[in-house]
Amino acid sequence: MRVLIAKVSHETNTFSPVPTAVARFCPDGETLLTGQAAIDFYRGTTSCLGRYIAIAGELGADIALPVAAAAPPSGPVDDDAFDLFCRLITDELRKQPFDAIMLDLHGAMVTNQYEDAEGELLRRVREVAPDTKLSVSLDMHANIFDGIVSRADVIAGYRTYPHVDHLPTAERAGRTLVRALRGEIKPTIAWANAPMLPHVMAQGTYREPNKTLQAMAEAMEREGECLVASVFVGFPHADVSQAGLSAVVVTDNDPEAAQRLVARLLDFAWARREAFTFQTEDLAASVARAKELDGPVVMLDHCDNSSSGGTMDTTNVLSEIIRQGLEDVVFFGIYDPDAVQAAMRAGVGATVELKLGGRMKMPSIPGTNEPLLVKAQVKTLSAGYFVSDSPMRRGVKVMMGPMAVLDTGKVEIVLISRHAEPSDLGLFKIVGIDPAKKHYVAIKSRVHWRADLGALAKHVVECNGLGVCTSDYGILKFEKTRRPIYPLDLINERG
Ligand SMILES: [Zn+2]
Repeated sequence: MRVLIAKVSHETNTFSPVPTAVARFCPDGETLLTGQAAIDFYRGTTSCLGRYIAIAGELGADIALPVAAAAPPSGPVDDDAFDLFCRLITDELRKQPFDAIMLDLHGAMVTNQYEDAEGELLRRVREVAPDTKLSVSLDMHANIFDGIVSRADVIAGYRTYPHVDHLPTAERAGRTLVRALRGEIKPTIAWANAPMLPHVMAQGTYREPNKTLQAMAEAMEREGECLVASVFVGFPHADVSQAGLSAVVVTDNDPEAAQRLVARLLDFAWARREAFTFQTEDLAASVARAKELDGPVVMLDHCDNSSSGGTMDTTNVLSEIIRQGLEDVVFFGIYDPDAVQAAMRAGVGATVELKLGGRMKMPSIPGTNEPLLVKAQVKTLSAGYFVSDSPMRRGVKVMMGPMAVLDTGKVEIVLISRHAEPSDLGLFKIVGIDPAKKHYVAIKSRVHWRADLGALAKHVVECNGLGVCTSDYGILKFEKTRRPIYPLDLINERG
């Protein structure tokens, strides 16, 4: 038996100015993972790809892994990069026949040419392998298109946010595909979406309504109503026609049941659309509120979260923290490779005066992103390499490139050269900071921090700063997204 396994993963924020070329998909920023190197990188990790490799291994299958490309969220993907990933997969499929294809995709990838990049990838795969059994695992933030669903035999999405269920997701996708290969089942898929854009800050499965919504899908599988049920809350920072919440259900040769279950999930979500919105607070008021709280206080600069496409170089939340005089703060972080280099030239212990961040223009967002002038001591320098122990990616090697910590006396500011959401304790450890010992842990994160840092938070304060993951969708120009859609349009009927 021969199984082709591949990963092509990107969550595209169409409003983000951060460019997305091939290098962003390389773990070290230079070398794309292909073949045996990709297998070695992911085998044994808590990733979908790692579990696909294990499942194919148990079958005694020959594995081909033509590409494992995963980039942090950012702007539309270069078509050259997308074409390369597709070509690596289709060239492998042309070399020899395969019994099964297992793909680890995100589901919200947009290129300059394709608003449904995963659908286009599958179209090219189906040109070469029209009948090969094919499973797809997707992120809960997928914006589902018919081009994805119609070309897959099995689809499974994450059921947790923070995403700590890569392994069970790959199990649901991969094992179901294996059953189909053996002729035990005949998968049929139904899907639909609701006209709603759930706010990312209201999507966590530690809270309602997504907690119950995901539990409903889980119960459908457990009680044998279907083979696989997935609810995708969608990625709202994408101006694409099918952005928003959707459900995908796979049954054993029972299309009507699949449709009925999709409708049940969407009815539940739609009835709770208001609970999927998010109320903001004035930034100065948030920081003042945090100032009165016992630590550790986790402060979320959530509009500039790189895992939603943020530039990570906005400074207004950091600036407000400094202005209001908060003490014993770690701020993670500011993306500024030049400032990191300047800190390295100065060396540990040196006092530097640097302009931080504020370099990236954000044409989609009103307001200006100003650099922040900071006088501080260089406290730590790091090469930025570690192996993650976070439940979201245990065993994955992380290469951040050079990092620096500047200490103002009150605030320790982490400077980074590559984008990463500070949701992994390992990121703090490699620069010698224990966030549990800080009064304030200010991070450019939204929900994923809860997976590894959640236990330390005595209080959480959401700080509404500047960034392309803005809290107010109303300021974004949605030109391609289907309308009406809640809450851009305050509709009461699904149409
Ligand atoms: Zn996600």
